[in-house]
Amino acid sequence: MSEVRVRFAPSPTGNLHVGGARTCLFNWLFARSQGGKLVLRIEDTDPARFQEGSVGQIIRSMKWLGLDWDEGPEVGGPCEPYYQSQRTEIYQKYIQQLLDEGKAYYCFCTPEELEAQREIQRQRKQPFRYPRPCRNLSKEEVERRLAAGEPHSIRFKIPMKGNMRVHDLIHGRMDFDLGQFDDFVIAKTNGTPTYNFAVVIDDHLMGMTHVLRAEEHIPNTPKQILLYEALGFEVPQFGHMSMILAPDRSKLSKRHGAQSVEEFQAMGYLPEALLNYLTLLGWSPEGNQEIITKEETVKQFDMNKMSHKGAVYDIKKLYWINGQYLQSLPLERIVQDVKPFFVKDGLVTEDWLKDEGNLKYLTHLVEVVRVRVKTLQEIADASTYFFKDFDTFDEKGVRKFFTEEGIALLKKCRDRIAAAPEAEFTEADLEKLYNAIVEEEGIALGKIIQPSRLALSGRTVTPGMFDVMVLLGKEKTLQRMDQAIAFGEKQLKG
Ligand code: GLU
Repeated sequence: MSEVRVRFAPSPTGNLHVGGARTCLFNWLFARSQGGKLVLRIEDTDPARFQEGSVGQIIRSMKWLGLDWDEGPEVGGPCEPYYQSQRTEIYQKYIQQLLDEGKAYYCFCTPEELEAQREIQRQRKQPFRYPRPCRNLSKEEVERRLAAGEPHSIRFKIPMKGNMRVHDLIHGRMDFDLGQFDDFVIAKTNGTPTYNFAVVIDDHLMGMTHVLRAEEHIPNTPKQILLYEALGFEVPQFGHMSMILAPDRSKLSKRHGAQSVEEFQAMGYLPEALLNYLTLLGWSPEGNQEIITKEETVKQFDMNKMSHKGAVYDIKKLYWINGQYLQSLPLERIVQDVKPFFVKDGLVTEDWLKDEGNLKYLTHLVEVVRVRVKTLQEIADASTYFFKDFDTFDEKGVRKFFTEEGIALLKKCRDRIAAAPEAEFTEADLEKLYNAIVEEEGIALGKIIQPSRLALSGRTVTPGMFDVMVLLGKEKTLQRMDQAIAFGEKQLKG
């Protein structure tokens, strides 16, 4: 068996979307599980669709996801160049070969003529078929028209009847009626090769053993196989990954929310979680395990278990998976990843983060906060009151907890804390202090915890109260309690 070689071949028409990321992931998984190679190839033959900066975005997202490639941009390799726009001469050579062998021909039909044909067939309610007027032009006529500089494209001569059977690695047997195919264009009027042509040349020259790509390319596969055969190339194995569907089983689109890897990154998702989620979209690990690292997936990966049914995209599941990774990844790692969110939200500055003591504080804070949230953004959202003062309190909370009794108890807590020696400001000491009040008053702990929570954070939901107090420090704790008492008393009077 020769070494497995697969590729991820994005067209740089935007940033990396979940669909593309999944295609990349499964090629990566297959290469890694087989000890093979993953090639990154940029399919930029169509300048009209090319988007400036897109290659950089795609590469950044792949790196962020931890999907590395063995050959391609940045790393080089024996099949350079890996940008299709730099391979024009290579394509030209093979186009010439097909022309010389009579397997391709010049087509002089103008867009207007083709449109007129299309219109006739539309009126007859027939699907458009190129009527092939140029397929059998005489050599002399072709030469005369070429010499006259007539614009032309180049079309591939396909067999006009017969069947083709393809064994797809995911879909199994697929049959195609060749009579349904046109003599498709392989080089456009401006001389650039079309996708179907360039992809075959590159997949062959780059030694691809398997082509794993999105299901939308199924109609291209028989055309490409005909080209492989015409050029005398060995045909790789094909596998087409099922569509990613929206929850209502429609085509996934912008209206269904975030689509690109960069958007998920900006929303505070972790690369491990997004990868884990994408892994489950179309493949099932043993025992339907839901949390599975990419290393473990590589060990278990079996292409035969890939589903040919559309995979339904479920953001809630991704959110849940993210929460799992947020708890289980090392604390230092989460701190590292969450820093930009704190800076972006104006809670801290880059300079603040350079201080060792501050970093220790942030680590403690993240440890306490991460337990209750599911994204990096939510860690920052749940941390604002540690960095910013506030003068409003949750309204429902005020009605419920800043009652006469609540405020009186809050005062009591405040005075006890103020009187406690400086050294006694740990979670355990504060717990003792609160428990003593509970006993004296004969009340439930919630009676003093809830007003305290609202006083310190302005919110009704926070991490453990004593953790919050220690993180705020004694001075700030007292200051916030004073503010709340003054606010509460004013409310009660008014
Ligand atoms: N460049 C194509 C795309 O982005 C992929 C082609 C292929 O995988 O064959 O859809």
